[in-house]
Amino acid sequence: MSAPSDSQQMEKIVSLCKRRGFIFQSSEIYGGLNGLWDYGPLGVELKRNLKNYWWRVMVHERDDVVGMDGSILMNRGVWKASGHEDTFTDPMVDCRSCKARLRADQIVEKKGANQCPVCGGKDLTEPRSFNLMFKTFVGATEDESSVTYLRPETAQAIFVQFKNVLDVSRKKLPFGIAQIGKAFRNEINPRNFTFRSREFEQMELEYFCRAEEGIKLLEYWKEERLKFYENIGISRDKLHVLTVPDEERAFYSKGTYDIEYDFPFGRQELEGVAYRTDYDLSQHQKASGKSLEYFDEETKQKFIPHVVEPSAGVDRTVLALICEAYSEDQAPDEKGKMETRIVLRFHPRIAPIKCGVFPLLKNNEQLVAKAKQIVDLLRPHLFVFYDEGGAIGRRYRRQDEIGTPFGITVDFETLGEKDSALCDTVTLRERDSMKQERVAIKDLANLLVAQIS
Ligand code: ATP
Repeated sequence: MSAPSDSQQMEKIVSLCKRRGFIFQSSEIYGGLNGLWDYGPLGVELKRNLKNYWWRVMVHERDDVVGMDGSILMNRGVWKASGHEDTFTDPMVDCRSCKARLRADQIVEKKGANQCPVCGGKDLTEPRSFNLMFKTFVGATEDESSVTYLRPETAQAIFVQFKNVLDVSRKKLPFGIAQIGKAFRNEINPRNFTFRSREFEQMELEYFCRAEEGIKLLEYWKEERLKFYENIGISRDKLHVLTVPDEERAFYSKGTYDIEYDFPFGRQELEGVAYRTDYDLSQHQKASGKSLEYFDEETKQKFIPHVVEPSAGVDRTVLALICEAYSEDQAPDEKGKMETRIVLRFHPRIAPIKCGVFPLLKNNEQLVAKAKQIVDLLRPHLFVFYDEGGAIGRRYRRQDEIGTPFGITVDFETLGEKDSALCDTVTLRERDSMKQERVAIKDLANLLVAQIS
């Protein structure tokens, strides 16, 4: 069998996501809305597992980071001071021939002339700035005084609450504030499935430090974040670190890395790790007139801390996890004939469902009762799925296709009918190797929890 092309691979992934309930088009029955997506029963589990693991590693397992959860709508002054109102723009070009609306960097140049990438037309408008923030009004009057924006990043809520969080947490520099939440950008061209969406979630850490520690911490966080991706099952050879060149970096940043992943549609950014200096806090201090300084008890000095920001996209990481996990192999069907098996090889830590529980036969009361007992036994520890429908091989395949790492089958040996030594044991099947081993029911919870945490 020849390897599928990258676009075929992406089509298969998009179709699997819909067929099995990972990701649906938003408001699909009305024809959808470009750049907006809904997560179905399995997608929401995958997303939660990712966010929970990020929170665990970035907040719970550290002494130097606390969390917060800011509002999506904020005082317009925040966006004026941060620079978003004036400069959070992309240059946009219209094609007069096919009416396509394009980001200027998508225009192709052929034989010295600019062309529309959609129709090849050369009748293009001059680039003009398009602000990516969604504007809205707060309160009953729709005028300039009530304007604000849906936040285009979560970070600003952290900066404007810096003083409150510092006071209540009594942290000493260096320390961080972490947040996971929705962000909105009116992207000119949403594309590549969920990769560039208009509504998405970010996982951001603002790690405050002294100016002299900034560069060292930028390196530290880049390495920590690479480890994170490896720990959720992304292979290191598909991850790349791009040092953002001076001319492409925000003017206030002293160094930025993009962590990129080899998606089927190309190498693209998953996360930015940026040393933002003291720019954000200084801007907010200036605009609000409120001190955002840190008092160093040892040196008795007051100063505005610098900050290093690892900023990751939840949706992009979910997409990377699905792309990384998708694979096809050959496995025997019920009659021993080889067939193509679709498997999502998720790391057990982030797999939506951790374990399937199957009675060998659905019309045998004892098998069914035992399988249900096992479900009750495991449920407090992990997310399990009970399935009694169809041949056992089919049930395995259904779980393989959604990435469930383990399957438990209750058979006649479990009931002690063949060999009393095997009473209260089950077969535990591992998804990738398809190997099966006999395990005592009483050992299941410990064994599985050790593999998924
Ligand atoms: P890009 O250059 O791809 O537009 P960016 O550099 O503007 O991204 P940042 O502002 O650094 O992105 O945002 C941090 C992270 O938020 C990105 O690395 C990405 O994971 C996520 N993100 C940003 N924009 C989008 C989007 N439109 N859809 C999904 N995720 C996004």
